[in-house]
Amino acid sequence: MNRRDELAANLAEVRERITRACAAAGRSVDEVTLLAVTKTFPAEDVALLSDLGLTEFAENRDQEAGPKAAGFAELRPGAPARWHMVGSLQRNKARSVVRWADQVDSVDSERLADALARAAAARGTAEPLDVLIQVSIDGDPHRGGHPIGDLPRLADHIAGKGELRLCGVMTVAPLGMSPAQAFDALDSAVTRLRVDHPTATVTSAGMSGDLEDAITRGSTCVRVGTALLGSRRLASP
Ligand SMILES: *Cc1c(COP(=O)(O)O)cnc(C)c1O
Repeated sequence: MNRRDELAANLAEVRERITRACAAAGRSVDEVTLLAVTKTFPAEDVALLSDLGLTEFAENRDQEAGPKAAGFAELRPGAPARWHMVGSLQRNKARSVVRWADQVDSVDSERLADALARAAAARGTAEPLDVLIQVSIDGDPHRGGHPIGDLPRLADHIAGKGELRLCGVMTVAPLGMSPAQAFDALDSAVTRLRVDHPTATVTSAGMSGDLEDAITRGSTCVRVGTALLGSRRLASP
């Protein structure tokens, strides 16, 4: 099978899973965005996914993503694409990231938010930078994310910055609990968050292995790598 057919078959399967999960939850498929996580895969694969109708792509390393986004733009000039940064991000990379990322989904501290606000201002575009707060449900510092109990404070901080637009939250289900439990906890926190931040409508939760659980519990964006593109050969931090 050539790569295009392989990706088309994988995409059909992922869409079918999303459709079934939405139906089971009584939700419309239009409520759930499919974000293709293309880390470790080449710009050619992004181009094929674009041909198949996808427009949202995610990367987790600045050094890899910048050249890939540029490579994609050369392969498919004018094709619509929104790029997300979903990996842990050091403050000194903020300026570099805003050159290719349309949205940063992994904001986990006030200091990173400040650095991104400065980088967004220096970028010189009128539009604010779209961001999500990455939430840690179990507080494990190694997996990244802002402690769930402290979510309101970081949300208020971001909302106070004109260069940033708080669109919602992202999480990765922790290892020590079931995805269902984790996504339940996130959904409760997000419901409370939206009282003060009604425009924070995005809940990015669910990956190849647990997207059904996430959709059942209100996810509006599933981030799918392996199930779309196959297993990653290179280690990705
Ligand atoms: C790699 C990655 C994904 C995709 O994971 P799969 O299990 O391959 O679907 C989703 N979210 C983040 C933050 C990632 O780093």
